[in-house]
Amino acid sequence: MTVSILNATATSLLPICIAGEWRLGTGERYVTRYPATGEVVAELNAASVADVEEAVAGAYRAFLSSGWAQRKPHERAAVLYRVAELIRSRSEALAQRQRLDNGKPINETRALVASAAATFQFFGAACETLEEALTPARGDCLTMSVHEPMGVVAAITPWNSPIASEAQKMAPALAAGNAVVVKPAEVTPLMALELAAICEEAGVPKGMISVLPGKGSVIGDAITKHPLVRRVSFTGGTNTGRHIAHIAADKMMPVSLELGGKSPTMVFDDADLDHAVNGVLYGIFSSSGESCIAGSRLFVARSLYEPFMDRLAAGAARLRVGNPADESTQMGPLITDRHRESIESYVAMGVEDGGHLRTGGLRPHVAGCESGYFYTPTIIEGLTNSARICQEEIFGPVLVAMPFDDEDELIEQANDSVYALAAGIWTRDYKRAWRVGRAVQAGNVWINTYKQFSISTPFGGWRDSGLGREKGRLGILQYMEQKSLYWGLNEQPLAWANAN
Ligand code: NDP
Repeated sequence: MTVSILNATATSLLPICIAGEWRLGTGERYVTRYPATGEVVAELNAASVADVEEAVAGAYRAFLSSGWAQRKPHERAAVLYRVAELIRSRSEALAQRQRLDNGKPINETRALVASAAATFQFFGAACETLEEALTPARGDCLTMSVHEPMGVVAAITPWNSPIASEAQKMAPALAAGNAVVVKPAEVTPLMALELAAICEEAGVPKGMISVLPGKGSVIGDAITKHPLVRRVSFTGGTNTGRHIAHIAADKMMPVSLELGGKSPTMVFDDADLDHAVNGVLYGIFSSSGESCIAGSRLFVARSLYEPFMDRLAAGAARLRVGNPADESTQMGPLITDRHRESIESYVAMGVEDGGHLRTGGLRPHVAGCESGYFYTPTIIEGLTNSARICQEEIFGPVLVAMPFDDEDELIEQANDSVYALAAGIWTRDYKRAWRVGRAVQAGNVWINTYKQFSISTPFGGWRDSGLGREKGRLGILQYMEQKSLYWGLNEQPLAWANAN
């Protein structure tokens, strides 16, 4: 069956990929919707638990018999480079499809597609340049440390940046020689299916990839618990991550968990204010705030608090919330109406707790997208860091702003969170940047910039923000088991038994 998820229409039922077989899932039928209009984008049958069983068993067979794991690293790399080329050759179509899938503005989905291509290229390079170690011998042996693929690994992804998150897990997993079972978010299944089709077209053997859309509590759970699944790479909410970690503990299975955040951004009195205003706006409101690393708690030096907040609020009010197809749109709709309601209830809670709105808090009218789930950039002040909306992840365009008086108190507040994913520092004083950058507890710290990424730089969080790291040249090792080899070089039999 030739698969073209890109050309699938809302009126044709979408197949899913079960160990290389493209067929209808045997779970419940459902539709996905374009968040800007509520229109149906795709109709499909979810995977069922029986489909999970078939996919994982098929993946294990493919792992054992397809020869993918035995290919030379440069041969696997060549296939991953072809995947990158194919993504690039279809980049506009993929970006448009991703826009319909989760409603992000077109310029953002183009960047996500470019990132997915770069990720496959990077892990192709990581695969063909990975070196094993000859360790210093302590006896008459040659001692080596090598890495082997794990077998079947799973990738469970959220809806906010599907093609980029899926590439970040599929590329290193395949580079390492594994079969991959992908569970995309139920509401955004299209990019994972498209990536699977592209990988097959590029030469990844049939069966090495499965894509199983469906409810996480059913399908994700069944995948995680499956005895043949030897690793789960998960991106999503902290509660789900904790649940997966419990299952993993029972199975003695490694996991990586990229979870939520409530990241502090700190603006000092010597900051370059043009940079800081733009950086803070970008840090919280890009992706409509639906970003794990959103800089959602802002601390501003008291001496510049009022003028800074005036500029920030004016900048937020000028952001273009609109049709994601429009090139000039900066913020698209939220993923679902339910998610918008959850954000609204957080804003109401902030006001009930004594906060007040500096700007935002509205459902804007967007011409041509009247049924979309839009929400204006919102800034709340007047609360202390212990307020619930300063502690809980909102995952939307809501910033809480607070003044601070001194550095020690600031660091204490910045670190007073169960989350520790990211932080931003705005100052011209490089010694202070170094001090605060080392003292703040977070997996990623941006100094005089924010939300910049590199596939070559490891990414992950501390505490409730996660476990393990993705990306980086050694990210491929996360999908491999380490093995030590001892080659005997003794001229004489081992002396202990003395059997001769
Ligand atoms: P969820 O944790 O609800 O879902 C993430 C994925 O897990 C989805 O595919 C979901 O399926 C699946 N899932 C749900 N329940 C289970 C289960 N019991 N077992 C296995 N899989 C399950 O997160 P959201 O979709 O709400 O995504 C937003 C969250 O993701 C935010 O907290 C955000 O911070 C975090 N995130 C973290 C990032 C990081 O890199 N640190 C990056 C992006 C987001 P279903 O489709 O049914 O929901």
